[in-house]
Amino acid sequence: MAVIVDAHGVILNANPGFERYSGHPRRAMVGRRLTCLDVDPLHGDISRALAHCVARRTSWQGALLCRRADGQPVHQQGVFQPLETWPGEPLRLLVTLQDITDLHQSAQHDHAELERLEGMLSGLPGVVFQLCETARGDLAFHYLSDGLQALAALSSRTVMESAESLLARVHAEDRGALTTSLAQSAVSLDPWTLEFRLDTSDGIRWVEVRATPRRGPDGVTEWDGVMLDITTHKREEQRTRRLVSTDMLTGVLNRRAFFDFGEAVRAHAARQGRSVPLAMLDLDHFKTLNDTHGHAAGDLALQVFATTCRDCLRPYDLFARIGGEEFAILLVDTSPEAAWAVLERLREAVEAIELDVKGELLSLTVSLGLAVIPPQGSLEFALSQADRALYRAKHEGRNRLASAPGYPEPQERTGT
Ligand code: GH3
Ligand code: MG
Ligand code: MG
Repeated sequence: MAVIVDAHGVILNANPGFERYSGHPRRAMVGRRLTCLDVDPLHGDISRALAHCVARRTSWQGALLCRRADGQPVHQQGVFQPLETWPGEPLRLLVTLQDITDLHQSAQHDHAELERLEGMLSGLPGVVFQLCETARGDLAFHYLSDGLQALAALSSRTVMESAESLLARVHAEDRGALTTSLAQSAVSLDPWTLEFRLDTSDGIRWVEVRATPRRGPDGVTEWDGVMLDITTHKREEQRTRRLVSTDMLTGVLNRRAFFDFGEAVRAHAARQGRSVPLAMLDLDHFKTLNDTHGHAAGDLALQVFATTCRDCLRPYDLFARIGGEEFAILLVDTSPEAAWAVLERLREAVEAIELDVKGELLSLTVSLGLAVIPPQGSLEFALSQADRALYRAKHEGRNRLASAPGYPEPQERTGT
């Protein structure tokens, strides 16, 4: 609709559209002020727009909130334009108003919808994200939901400005896996899935990421995905794994874990062409100790024995209880000669144990059989060789080391 007003905003003329849009009869409005359409006739947008045009003699354009004759508010896009006048002629303005109520309502609806979505995403137990990798390999997060604060103690905004602020917190040991898995997903366009650790101010957090990639223009790859905090789940899993691999009485590895981890140690050494020293241990006359002092004393002896052995070894050597009073040791990155020396010290440490059973001090001794797993050999075969050597140690008087044929014994021990 269009109207012509004077410098005071008094309506001089109005087009037919005016009646349709405002609901006011055209004739009745001529002679009245245009400001009466404003929801705030005295200080509203229309009086401000008029003041602007009169003072500067330039046009004004902007949004206005008006009221129809029936009281309905209407959002208008208004243009106030001073008309050309002869010198001395009073100022007149052409005012055009366009109803944008629908547009305004749909924008408001979109806004509410967006807020609802944001609220829903921030309430999710995880982080929704969109990650982008340029053809040059630069990473940027185009979107991250608010859950990031709880997950990584970082604001989404910070990470959207610099992906590095989050990537720098990926645990050093997991960075390689993250880069590789992301690169593979970018090439194959297969989903990106990974479990990795984040170093946060609250300690280590385990994160699971699942994202779907797509190739955009200019070779850009984009992933839409979620990151979930799986710390509790991981701790539980680690606890279960520890329980499954631990001997309940002594707290050292059990037989099953010895074979699992032992196989990994053997394979690693074999790849480097190295052999791995291995020992079988069996407590001497243990049955007598049990029979004389009771099963509880026997249990205590097993615990003290295990602790003593563990203290003689390095953290990454494998030490396991593989039977009742039988134990096994794998010495990682150790030569057969050095292994002999380590185990001799261990034997002496066991010999020095004084077990206090109801005030009586009991001593313990152990016999050991040594063998090596050669680079091409098997753990089981080496264990059977160590077992035969152990039998020999028992036969030769117990409380001693004996080795399988071919094991390089130190000079001073040979023949003793
Ligand atoms: P040797 O010097 O020849 O090894 O004699 P030994 O008496 O130690 O040998 P043997 O194998 O005959 O006896 C092992 C004993 O270990 C028998 C069993 O009662 C005892 N034993 C096995 N497991 C446990 C356990 O968990 N707790 C206790 N207290 N005793 C155990
Ligand atoms: Mg035995
Ligand atoms: Mg025994």
